[in-house]
Amino acid sequence: MSFGTYKEVMALKAKDGKIGGVAQDGGVVTTLLCYALEKGVIDGALVAGKSETPWMPKPTIATTKEEIIAAAGTKYTISPVVSTIKDAAREYGLEKIAVVGTPCQIYAVQKMRLYGVGARHIPDKVAMTVGIFCTENFSYAGLRTVIEDHCKVPIESVTKMEIGKGKFWVKGAKDVSIPIKETHKYEQDGCHVCSDLTAEFADISTGSIGTPDGWSTTFARSTRGKDLLSKAIADGLFEKKSMDEFKSAPDAKIKSGLDLLGNLEKGKKDKAKKHFDERKALGLFVTPEILY
Ligand SMILES: Cc1cc2nc3c(=O)[nH]c(=O)nc-3n(C[C@H](O)[C@H](O)[C@H](O)COP(=O)(O)OP(=O)(O)OC[C@H]3O[C@@H](n4cnc5c(N)ncnc54)[C@H](O)[C@@H]3O)c2cc1C
Ligand code: SF4
Repeated sequence: MSFGTYKEVMALKAKDGKIGGVAQDGGVVTTLLCYALEKGVIDGALVAGKSETPWMPKPTIATTKEEIIAAAGTKYTISPVVSTIKDAAREYGLEKIAVVGTPCQIYAVQKMRLYGVGARHIPDKVAMTVGIFCTENFSYAGLRTVIEDHCKVPIESVTKMEIGKGKFWVKGAKDVSIPIKETHKYEQDGCHVCSDLTAEFADISTGSIGTPDGWSTTFARSTRGKDLLSKAIADGLFEKKSMDEFKSAPDAKIKSGLDLLGNLEKGKKDKAKKHFDERKALGLFVTPEILY
């Protein structure tokens, strides 16, 4: 188990029922963004908002709680959120920006900080990054095919989708689940060389693996990430449990929620390494070796 660098890992669940009702898991992302906005830690957040097309996310610069809450929930397709970062700084004039994204998007922001090519002064305005765990992502056409052809549900009738326990679930007018292996061929190819499951470069990372439904496994990684989380917990925004509470029976193969996360993380890194080596052998572009 590595999970990157972190100061603390914990299980959290938002107490605000309004957020709990729309959030994907424990509502950690939406609760923290609203809290940071209220406290002046940020003046806006880059999120995956809703668009005219069902389940097609629209990268959105949210400057109000209402806009942040409207973007809650996972859309299992690409939302190029980093594309909004310059507009947030230059057109919206934001000085303290939060970025929410998948591990690759957090990696892009971190890279921009170190090598700010064509993005002078922009990364200085990133006040917080919130990374969401990610195993894989789909193109919109791929997602639509999974929902309409495999699950046999019209995409506009879906109210929530989830990946967990080896299945892809859609909920709404009809609840359907299909084995996750049916979706593999629709994964975006670039995800196959991705070795980061837990958003290792974020200030705070959160996801569902390791905790029961309605809860989030959450890592406080940087000092600023831990400060924000500690204040939000002290102000009573979350129910908090130790990850040690999610232990399995003594004879179970997987001993705890964190063990499960560790196994899946290792699986992702091993798979990425295999694809990385194959590409390298073919003389194709490969992502930096340090990631493996
Ligand atoms: C493609 C994808 C794959 C994922 N795979 C896993 C996984 O394998 N295991 C796991 O534990 N968790 C995974 N997650 C994360 C999980 O689905 C939740 O986003 C996370 O647990 C946060 O829950 P929450 O209740 O705190 O978030 P909420 O409060 O509901 O907020 C969710 C936030 O995620 C943002 N968001 C939604 N869709 C996207 C998107 N496509 N790209 C970027 N940002 C987005 C929204 O802007 C919103 O701010 C995945 C997320 C995505 C987008
Ligand atoms: S698997 Fe990796 S590359 Fe693909 S969306 Fe998730 S974080 Fe990005």
